[in-house]
Amino acid sequence: MYKAYAQRGEGPRGPWCKRCILPIEAGEPTERILFANDPERKLKELNGLYHARCAQPYLGLSRILNINPWGRF
Ligand SMILES: [Zn+2]
Repeated sequence: MYKAYAQRGEGPRGPWCKRCILPIEAGEPTERILFANDPERKLKELNGLYHARCAQPYLGLSRILNINPWGRF
């Protein structure tokens, strides 16, 4: 039989920050990070929503990686 695990308290259903693995609550500043130039898909797991403060180290990185030297998408 399928066992359902009860969530503790009122589990947030909203998005979860990819970095600190805490829920992003409504109204909190967020950043969506997208590593567009990721041919090996190593960074795919990092794409997603972050708390704005958690996204800071990634923002610089994603800007660098998003530079497209070939000028096409
Ligand atoms: Zn976070």
